[in-house]
Amino acid sequence: MKRIGVLTSGGDSPGMNAAIRAVVRKAIYHDLEVFGVYNGYQGLMEGNIKKMELGSVGDIIQRGGTILYSARSEAFKTEEGQQKAIEQLNKFGIEGLIVIGGDGSFRGAEKLTKKGYPCIGVPGTIDNDIPGTDFTIGFDTALNTIIDSIDKIRDTATSHERTYVIEVMGRNAGDLALWSGLADGAESILIPEQPDDFEAVIQKLKRGQERGKKHSIIILAEGVGSGVDFGKKIEEATDMDTRVTVLGHTQRGGSPSGFDRVLASRLGAKAVDLLLEGKAGRMVGIQNNKLVDHDIIEILKEPHTVNMEMYKLSNELSI
Ligand code: ADP
Repeated sequence: MKRIGVLTSGGDSPGMNAAIRAVVRKAIYHDLEVFGVYNGYQGLMEGNIKKMELGSVGDIIQRGGTILYSARSEAFKTEEGQQKAIEQLNKFGIEGLIVIGGDGSFRGAEKLTKKGYPCIGVPGTIDNDIPGTDFTIGFDTALNTIIDSIDKIRDTATSHERTYVIEVMGRNAGDLALWSGLADGAESILIPEQPDDFEAVIQKLKRGQERGKKHSIIILAEGVGSGVDFGKKIEEATDMDTRVTVLGHTQRGGSPSGFDRVLASRLGAKAVDLLLEGKAGRMVGIQNNKLVDHDIIEILKEPHTVNMEMYKLSNELSI
């Protein structure tokens, strides 16, 4: 293999730039030529491709977002779209592709691999919803962004003796809600992996009120439903002054944490190693602090799990 490509696809996450940097530098270290594909699969179909040099990825390790931009492309899901992408890969002589993104992006990578263009997936999403890796790139940064926001909300919640419902991202995964709830001492955490017990939430709020608590914080994963609706339900059931904050896209931005920069560097470099070993259709991950790789499609069939011991602990600590 002499020439490889790298693209970012789907939802962006902090640390994607650090992963791009690792891919480019590791490839050049091994005397490969490396091409950056702009705008994900859309840019691949359109030939929006440029050669990357060592300097192309200078000064980006600390930047959020992705210098290669990201896109969602319906056209790429079609046979015709994939043929266009292959034409461009042939035109540029790109023999292997590293795809940094989420599960949708991995399904695209699998399609190209099956057509003879080896792809390796690098899990980049704040949601931490990819099986086969303990952490995805961006999760830790998003977690810390949420913690910063909740700390601020906590100040005003205390001043006004209010109940706050905070809706956090995570798609169908509860990891961001669970980790931020435990880190912030939330009264209740609602995650899609655990059926929500509304009565238990209300009882806990009332107990807190009786013992003179100044405020209550409830973290709701977006996968459970709307924070606004949940806030209304609480107000109706308790008469407590309730406010809802939907943190939204601030969770996707910002300078990546040290953890995410290191994770992205390790996973990006590992993806290059796999291509050099002649592997195809694999996803890289980290499990028990060891770099691993899995079949990119088989692993997506595994259910996503959250750490229920942490869920139980959070309940125990917020009695
Ligand atoms: P993420 O990678 O963050 O999960 P998406 O699910 O939007 O984000 O997927 C990103 C892109 O990957 C899609 O816009 C599409 O171009 C491509 N993709 C997703 N699913 C498939 C599929 N089944 N076949 C081919 N390409 C796909």
